[in-house]
Amino acid sequence: MNSIKILSFAKVNLSIDVTGLDEKGYHLLDMIMQMTNLYDEVFVQWEEDEKFEISLRSNKAFLPTDERNLAYKACLLMAEAFPAKAKGKIDINIKKHVPVAAGLAGGSGNGAALILALNKLWELGLDIDAMCALGEKLGSDVPFSIRGLAYGNKELGFGREEGAYPSARARGTGTILEPCPSMKGYLVLVKPPLSVSTKEVYTNIDNCEIPCRPDNDALVEALKADDYELIYNNMINVLENYTLNAYPKVKEIKDKVGQDQVARKVLMSGSGPTIFAVYKTKTQASIACNRLRKTGLESYVARPL
Ligand code: ATP
Repeated sequence: MNSIKILSFAKVNLSIDVTGLDEKGYHLLDMIMQMTNLYDEVFVQWEEDEKFEISLRSNKAFLPTDERNLAYKACLLMAEAFPAKAKGKIDINIKKHVPVAAGLAGGSGNGAALILALNKLWELGLDIDAMCALGEKLGSDVPFSIRGLAYGNKELGFGREEGAYPSARARGTGTILEPCPSMKGYLVLVKPPLSVSTKEVYTNIDNCEIPCRPDNDALVEALKADDYELIYNNMINVLENYTLNAYPKVKEIKDKVGQDQVARKVLMSGSGPTIFAVYKTKTQASIACNRLRKTGLESYVARPL
């Protein structure tokens, strides 16, 4: 095989709590991550040659095509880990559908896609744990992305027994993962027309008052028991305490999305700015999505994987 297509799924956070700082100053988290069926298409071609070369293009002109791109970075990481294999040309074409810098781990997904793709194309035979250990060096959302993409791209041959799963409780800096049941229902994702820097949010969150935190033990039990009242009560993202205050536009959009009485829950994903709403049926989600689009908001219907 010398080419492969990987679907690079976006995640949302059903909850985020910040529990402290590690010795390096990184924030310690306790959160539930959920893969959705909104994806980028990542095409990877491999041609053996004497010279090692990476070329990358995408349908978004503003995305970097060099080592600043996480997919490119993932190739360099794999080449460093497996120098004997890194002789040839890697051609990457990313068709982006997932909003960028949105709190949906789109870039991390693309990095994960390259690790999974090169594992196949270079016939490395790595298991998921080994790929996650490599992925962690790229970013803290990459191990979850590897597990979620491995789950969603069935033809890669990984199942739940091999450690592929679409939903997890994540602790530490986000890399210590435990599978948990996926949420049911449908989602409407709304991307406000602005970017929020993840770094900025974490730098400022320690100075914010946090009036309520998710009970992630209860949330996991509620997901297991399909207890939706308990699920919605614990869908809390403490990072909203910074982002919604610092970016009134995001708060305004969250309020607007929440005006729909049919929405079961409305929450910000990651450090923002994407807001998502949970609906019971696809029809409800489609109606809500169309209504939001008519007001000019970039909106998508998705479902949990
Ligand atoms: P997270 O939820 O992990 O914080 P995010 O969804 O907020 O991620 P990304 O879409 O991953 O954010 O993009 C964050 C930054 O990474 C952007 O500024 C973008 O330029 C850069 N980036 C690098 N590679 C990629 C990629 N392949 N796709 C999207 N963004 C990328």
